Amino acid sequence: MSRQQCKEKSRLHNSIRVSFLQIVEFSSELSKLNVIKYSVKLLFSCVTVALYIGCASIDVPRVTPQELAVERQLQLEHTLTEGFDQIARIHNLLWPLLERNTDFCRGMTTRSIGLRHTSPRGGSGQSAVERRARDAVFDFNERPVIYAVAEGSPADTAGLKPNDRIVAVGRWTWTAENASDFNRSLQRRLDAMVRRGDVVLAIERDGERMSIDMTPIRICNVDLSLKPTLEVQARTNGREIVVTLGMAERLDDEQIRTVLAHELAHCTMGHITRTSVNSGLGLMFDLAFLTQRVWLGGVFSRLSRDAMSISIEREADYVSMYLLANAGFDTSDRAQIWRELADEVTFRSSFFTTHPYSPERYLLLTKTHDEIDRKRESGEDVVPNGMRLRRR
Ligand SMILES: [Zn+2]
Repeated sequence: MSRQQCKEKSRLHNSIRVSFLQIVEFSSELSKLNVIKYSVKLLFSCVTVALYIGCASIDVPRVTPQELAVERQLQLEHTLTEGFDQIARIHNLLWPLLERNTDFCRGMTTRSIGLRHTSPRGGSGQSAVERRARDAVFDFNERPVIYAVAEGSPADTAGLKPNDRIVAVGRWTWTAENASDFNRSLQRRLDAMVRRGDVVLAIERDGERMSIDMTPIRICNVDLSLKPTLEVQARTNGREIVVTLGMAERLDDEQIRTVLAHELAHCTMGHITRTSVNSGLGLMFDLAFLTQRVWLGGVFSRLSRDAMSISIEREADYVSMYLLANAGFDTSDRAQIWRELADEVTFRSSFFTTHPYSPERYLLLTKTHDEIDRKRESGEDVVPNGMRLRRR
């Protein structure tokens, strides 16, 4: 409310005076127990006082709807750029873990060329501002655009780069007439070519058209997505690893890689299924007691889940070291990385409520590194104790 508006409403001053009188009157009349009537009066008086206090005593600059729309779009562009940059970065960090650990993935593999793309209409229900922001971030020119190419992947080896526009998949070519159909069914057609084992794309770069031929390679079939929230969190459902934007922004490359290896270990070890089965067994005990009219508050479900959670987190830490070693990464500093992560993000992070840092964790990781070293020196397979791999 501006000063001018306040002046126009100067009668509020009188209302205030009246309001205070009403409050005094309320206090005395309350004793007569006319509660409802005087509560209404009190409420009215309080609103009047609040309105008066709410009047600005200084002039602040006004923002026009046009200025607001421009700023809103700029902020969206910033968020989109940051989100796509981060997912491209994590895609790149995850790729070697997926590519070099197919022996650990126990039949859970797929073929891939290692690129990610996005289309001008990135999803249904987009507002005009969102569409304009996407158009400003990617130079779509109505075509789908590649935004991530994993280092060392077939797409990288074939020379594809971020910002290349995809203009043909096999013999199916983009035209102005089929643009929306092309964009919508691109992923499906690309997946079909990847499954067949030979991918031919045509791309546009700096006004030139190029044809690219790629042979997909086998990788662990674990997808990746970025959750656009600021909490520090990573989780998996066994088929997909979800990393929050907050975690991506906070952690450096080696910290992210350590967390990704841990999540991938949950996938390769089938932990999600095992946790569900264990909770199910606990629930059966709870229900058995319930049939005898005794409800223990789900204690067996909880106990079995908690016991499982401790053992699977320990197992994920142990196996993650082998996944890192097998993918060619140094494991000597991983215990220290977990220690630093705990120091840095414990109080801001829900990740460490589900993955508590403990002295035991540090010692387990240190001993695992020594175990891997010993196996390497003696020429043994670098495989977790008790695990037999199905070779490709
Ligand atoms: Zn975990």
